[in-house]
Amino acid sequence: MRLILMGPPGAGKGTQARTVAEHFGIPAISTGDIFRANVSQGTPLGKKAEEYMDAGEYVPDEVTNLMVRARIDEPDAEPGFLLDGYPRTLAQVEELDGMIRHTGHELDAAVVLTVDPDEIVERLLRRAQVEGRADDTEEVIRRRQEVYVEQTEPLIEFYRGRGLVHEIDGMGVVEEVTKRIFDALDVVPQS
Ligand code: ADP
Repeated sequence: MRLILMGPPGAGKGTQARTVAEHFGIPAISTGDIFRANVSQGTPLGKKAEEYMDAGEYVPDEVTNLMVRARIDEPDAEPGFLLDGYPRTLAQVEELDGMIRHTGHELDAAVVLTVDPDEIVERLLRRAQVEGRADDTEEVIRRRQEVYVEQTEPLIEFYRGRGLVHEIDGMGVVEEVTKRIFDALDVVPQS
């Protein structure tokens, strides 16, 4: 199973990614989490990514693509993977196509979480208080939303054209959203 999870910052991708990936026995690969781990460990990759992340901008495609390629090549991703936060640009879409084609597989679905814009800012400001992420200030949140609308939202139409998009209402409690995703993917969640 090869899935991508799309949606604006604050749509709840990370939360849903873990449950859905667990169901399919595949790793949830979050580019944001991998970047943050590298920043906190002070790796060369983290040093390259940090200034972009703090400004709410995307890390350059070459950097991100190499990182994802290496992660997908790991043995646990052989049966499939769920990508959370990748691809976000057209160059990344093309790169991912190449990576998947190379393994002789296909992308199975693009799950798109939709959330009301006011709710998103509220969620992210609340998360800022709990997690203290450096990029959860109001100004950077606003910039991340803009970058999403400019660079990533158009990709949804691209995947829709391929018949892969499942648009899911991301409002409401976590379990309800999970159920909607499983319904759309036509699977029975195990308890
Ligand atoms: P959010 O989607 O809530 O903004 P993430 O945790 O997914 O947060 O990502 C945090 C930051 O990591 C992004 O603002 C960006 O700088 C960087 N990043 C994550 N994924 C990508 C990607 N696919 N391409 C470029 N940069 C990325």
